[in-house]
Amino acid sequence: MIGDIMAISRMRMATDGEGVSTLVGFYDCLLHCKYCINDACHKSKNYYTSTPRGAYTPKELMKILKKDSIYYMMTGGGIVFGGGEPLLQSAFIHEVCRLADPEWKLRIETSLNVPWRLVEPLVEDIDEWIIDIKDINPYIYYNYTKKENKRLTCNLARLIEVVQKEKLRIRVPLIMGFNTEEDVAVSVEWVKKNLDVDTEVFKYYPVKAKEL
Ligand code: SF4
Repeated sequence: MIGDIMAISRMRMATDGEGVSTLVGFYDCLLHCKYCINDACHKSKNYYTSTPRGAYTPKELMKILKKDSIYYMMTGGGIVFGGGEPLLQSAFIHEVCRLADPEWKLRIETSLNVPWRLVEPLVEDIDEWIIDIKDINPYIYYNYTKKENKRLTCNLARLIEVVQKEKLRIRVPLIMGFNTEEDVAVSVEWVKKNLDVDTEVFKYYPVKAKEL
């Protein structure tokens, strides 16, 4: 099994949850956010051969991840799967999680806007689901991502049934030019009412950010 990996970023602190972590960023994403910070993820396949460009087996990836094991264990950190949309490669991630030290924290940063069959393999593996829901208003969501958010809301409802709510970290951005503080408040309230989970509000800016 091969993972199509865009970047591996080691020794990250205070950016992806508690402790020291290694971010594994995957190619591909089904959304097309206006202010995408990792637009390179949309170019996953080699143009001429259609083969993955950042190909790793789970064992090859684990060899790199293990280098910082002592730091993960000392700080409550571990691995963060991001992207792109990591859930598009959930079968690969599941294999990596099976090889991970049980003391590492395993986190995923996702839009959760993928078919449920791609979420399910990781339900038992992931310690923290960091989910950026953009905006709960379908029109705002579509305007910003060019995708509908029905699948996201359905997946949230299913996920809360199978994982402890303490494992969910829901993020709601204020997106300049797309939603307002009032819209953000509506999203925050929707999450509280439907999932009984607190949210983290943050801001997107219309800047061309650096890739991973
Ligand atoms: S979900 Fe993330 S990777 Fe995907 S288009 Fe939006 S910002 Fe880019």
